Amino acid sequence: MARTYVVTGSASGIGATTAAILRKRGERVIGIDLNNADIEADLSTPEGRADAASRTIELAGTIDAVIACAGISAPIPKTISVNYFGVTELLTALLPALAGSDAPRVAVVSSMASLQPNSAEMVEAALAGDEPKALAIAADLAAEGPASGYLVYPSSKRALARWVRRESITPTWAGAGIPLNAVAPGTVLTPMTAGLLGTAEGAAMVDANVPMPLNYHQPPESIAHVLIWLTSEENTHLAGQVIYDDGGADATLRGDDIWSWADAR
Ligand code: NAD
Repeated sequence: MARTYVVTGSASGIGATTAAILRKRGERVIGIDLNNADIEADLSTPEGRADAASRTIELAGTIDAVIACAGISAPIPKTISVNYFGVTELLTALLPALAGSDAPRVAVVSSMASLQPNSAEMVEAALAGDEPKALAIAADLAAEGPASGYLVYPSSKRALARWVRRESITPTWAGAGIPLNAVAPGTVLTPMTAGLLGTAEGAAMVDANVPMPLNYHQPPESIAHVLIWLTSEENTHLAGQVIYDDGGADATLRGDDIWSWADAR
């Protein structure tokens, strides 16, 4: 029987590809995006999220899975609102509709940028649920110029990845039988990166920060397939993971020892 999937960012890139694959497999998909979606809503504001959630639940009834792809990468305050609060608040608001599913699943899109320099203060404000404070920190950084402003995006993705690990093991998620995980892409060929990759200078800058020894820049399908498996009935025990599906960028940058945190000091 078809499962009901809610896909945010369904009008473009990774979200559009994920929605198209799911529909082709016969699943029911409810897309959320600013335009060209079943539910047109702005996830950058608390009102937009609440409105999106209530209209989605009204349309969907029971929801079997949510795949949160909507995001922006601009060095502006709104990036923390869309990429962190636009995911965490929406997912929380959709929980009552996931409760009715036999196999509820949730996956979000973080980024390998979660490994890049970021603002610890902004990450903590986001994790504390303080959107006005996170926005104020982002506004100060953006006002300092592009180099500081760029910290907003990695901060949003670091905060989201930490939220997934933190929340996934709580009674709300694990206790309710809902696997909650993230996929962290490298450089994906979508409208988000087209401008930057369109110039030799931009591409060189991206590649210097995102080494991808396995197959280089990736198509959106490479992320969509992992998101779809994470939210399938087959995923019964994978929880709190941030899967770096990034052509080897994480392994290149962090190396082979990410286990020593618990070693005797
Ligand atoms: P994209 O720009 O092609 O698609 C993003 C979609 O999100 C768009 O349809 C856009 O309208 C929607 N969106 C933006 N702001 C919104 C808002 N306020 N409310 C509702 N919808 C909104 O980008 P993409 O490459 O498909 O990115 C999808 C996700 O993957 C993003 O979270 C992005 O940060 C992440 N990501 C992308 C890359 C990459 O290289 N493209 C790498 C790592 C992570």
